[in-house]
Amino acid sequence: MSTYSLAIHGGAGTILKHEMSPEKEVAYTLALQAALQAGEEILRQGGAALDAVMAAVTSLEDCPLFNAGRGSVFNAAGGHEMDASIMDGSNRMAGAVAGIHGIRNPIRLAREVMDHTEHVLLIGDGALAFADARGYERMPAEYFHDDFRFAQWQDVKGTEAIQLDHTIKDRKFGTVGAVALDSRGHLAAGTSTGGMTNKKYGRVGDSPVIGAGTWAWDRTCAVSCTGSGEFFLRGVVAYDVSCLMEYKGLSLQAACDEVIHHRLPEIQGDGGLIAVDAQGNIAMPFNTEGMYRASVKSGLDRFVGIYGE
Ligand code: ASP
Repeated sequence: MSTYSLAIHGGAGTILKHEMSPEKEVAYTLALQAALQAGEEILRQGGAALDAVMAAVTSLEDCPLFNAGRGSVFNAAGGHEMDASIMDGSNRMAGAVAGIHGIRNPIRLAREVMDHTEHVLLIGDGALAFADARGYERMPAEYFHDDFRFAQWQDVKGTEAIQLDHTIKDRKFGTVGAVALDSRGHLAAGTSTGGMTNKKYGRVGDSPVIGAGTWAWDRTCAVSCTGSGEFFLRGVVAYDVSCLMEYKGLSLQAACDEVIHHRLPEIQGDGGLIAVDAQGNIAMPFNTEGMYRASVKSGLDRFVGIYGE
């Protein structure tokens, strides 16, 4: 049997049990289980961590419950600008896109950037021209229209308020990600997001930035972050976890705890991350009330969590 580990997240924030309806809780749980299963299937058959990450993130992007792909939030101009990145821990190759719209699965386009260009990050019109050249179908605006997301934007439209999906009144949370270790010992990480409601046109968060929102290196760990992107950028969070393991010899859990519970709060940053190391250990710390998350290790039961302990 192959040995593998996989963890996914659907965003961290003020997720409180008493504010969640039983129906919603079931819907989120099923969506997390489906994404975990999509990724695990690949790992169980001996497939690559990179492919498992893609499969899990694609599943979450297709689910309107999460702020990525189909469920992306509205920006200040009433449009969608999505960001995504992916990293291969075996060779530290990476691909990313930022400020794109109309693409069903930004994580796939990020992978195309990694596989078919000399670059790491393509943005806006350039990324879309690349998508066209690669034969990507553009989805109509209706595909991304969600009444709930639209109502979120109406609340703050025309104001300077920028709402993290974490802090809005209905407490929906944003960004999706996956990290995996495959049976060949390779690590991979991927992250995808619609960003923040009413964000300025052109704003880019941590999710497509390698080292901030996403990182993978076989020597240390694979990390995917979620939270207030500006703080994760300033903290270079995903890479910081890897550095603490490499330079200080910390365990995965200790490195993650140091970053999420000490370094990030020092700059008032809130959020969480999922991480897996080369031994298959998994850590999923967050300093918010909750984080949509799920994980599985070969031969062990699946875990799905939403709230804090
Ligand atoms: N980190 C994402 C961003 O700032 C948002 C999130 O994780 O909810 O774009």
